[in-house]
Amino acid sequence: MTYPSEKLIRTILAFCIAGVLSASISNADDKPNIIIIITDDQGYNDVGFNGSEEIPTPNVDRIADEGVRFTQAYVTHPFCGPSRAGLLSGRYQYRFGFEGNPSLNPRDEKAGFPTSEEMISEMLKRAGYTNMIAGKWHMGTHPRFHPFKRGFDEFFGFLAGGHQYFPHELTVKDMMAVKNKGEWYRTKLRHNGEIYEMQRDYLTDEISDFAVDFIERRGKQDEPFFLYLAYNAPHGPLQATQTYLDRFPNIEDNKRRTYAAMISAVDDGVGRVLDTLDQMEIAGNTVVFFLSDNGGVMKKGKENWSDNSPLRAGKGSFFEGGNRVPFAMRWPARVKAKQDYNEPISSLDIASTLAAHLNIQPQKTLDGIDLLPYLNGVARRAPDRELYWRNLKSGNIAVVSGDYKYMKSAKNSSLFDLSSDIGESKNLVKKNAEVVGSMESKQEDWLEGMATEPAFNFADTWPRKN
Ligand code: CA
Repeated sequence: MTYPSEKLIRTILAFCIAGVLSASISNADDKPNIIIIITDDQGYNDVGFNGSEEIPTPNVDRIADEGVRFTQAYVTHPFCGPSRAGLLSGRYQYRFGFEGNPSLNPRDEKAGFPTSEEMISEMLKRAGYTNMIAGKWHMGTHPRFHPFKRGFDEFFGFLAGGHQYFPHELTVKDMMAVKNKGEWYRTKLRHNGEIYEMQRDYLTDEISDFAVDFIERRGKQDEPFFLYLAYNAPHGPLQATQTYLDRFPNIEDNKRRTYAAMISAVDDGVGRVLDTLDQMEIAGNTVVFFLSDNGGVMKKGKENWSDNSPLRAGKGSFFEGGNRVPFAMRWPARVKAKQDYNEPISSLDIASTLAAHLNIQPQKTLDGIDLLPYLNGVARRAPDRELYWRNLKSGNIAVVSGDYKYMKSAKNSSLFDLSSDIGESKNLVKKNAEVVGSMESKQEDWLEGMATEPAFNFADTWPRKN
């Protein structure tokens, strides 16, 4: 008698697992609710599920514990605007010239997420979703870039790249009234088209209130919802209320303590979001993503604000500390709990996973992969892929492929084996010319699909000094 091959057995098992997971969905027209929670400048190690003991995040950790923790997850740029444009388009933002933080000039018709690109919210709108953004936009301040023009039905928050957290600091009516740099952090909040006077004493709590309210309202409806919960914490200015500061009496450094308090406030908000899903009995078919938009900010020489360990460097850098972020996903109906996924993934994969699951044809080819086959045992091998970064102005470039990471600047080049050297301390560029050659050739091919100049003016161009 012949025995079935190991491969055949594994294939049958994979189908069985996928079948059981599919069978747990009662709704044939399976459109999950979708929540993307993004934090701003949170360090790789400043979350419980990556090992932080100094800043407990029990609620954020629930997402990882009840779903998947991704240990090698990247964003597409080491700072805010471009990283978010990659996430929201599902495409390398370098394709459309989103090379920096856009000017916040509300009269600038070019500075923002180009209308020639489809945003994830627009894609989901086509599939019948009702969408809300709560928090930070940063995708352009000219009216043509407004969230309402980009597939969102509701908007609470602000248009700039950061914000003051206390109500008494919000003294500027809107972007048109901004006269000096930094005043854009002081604009009044907006709820849909109207100025919204803060009810809470802290912006993070207010953002959480709106997120919970949206879920409570939309969770009762037949149509699925998409919530883009874009906290600006723990991005500067470092500000926290006493309630949260009091949780960290043992942190001596005031900035680190405030930063910890800011993350703790986000964690409270995440807990309220998850509890609301439970109370409404919609947690099973709601997919929740959690990630930071880039690595934590390091104060030069004193790493006391954020903790990106064991990674090298932080925000703004192509070393791992800049682009590798805390990342977790929970989807009880589709994805088994308590998984660690250790292969490289990207924020680009969120749009690709949703498009594949919902069978939506994106307007343009997405750059990510559908994660589900890798998480539910259908795909046996790690995806064969490369992830890229570039800085158009400096010419610096980076690529991750397999175990290796290759970086090149005008001054030097470096090759690291991330599987054995996560801290990027041993440059192998002289020892492994073959890998270097292969990486350079891949980079050149990839660059051919990218824009050759920025699509817009950057944030430092407005307001001009008198
Ligand atoms: Ca950021």
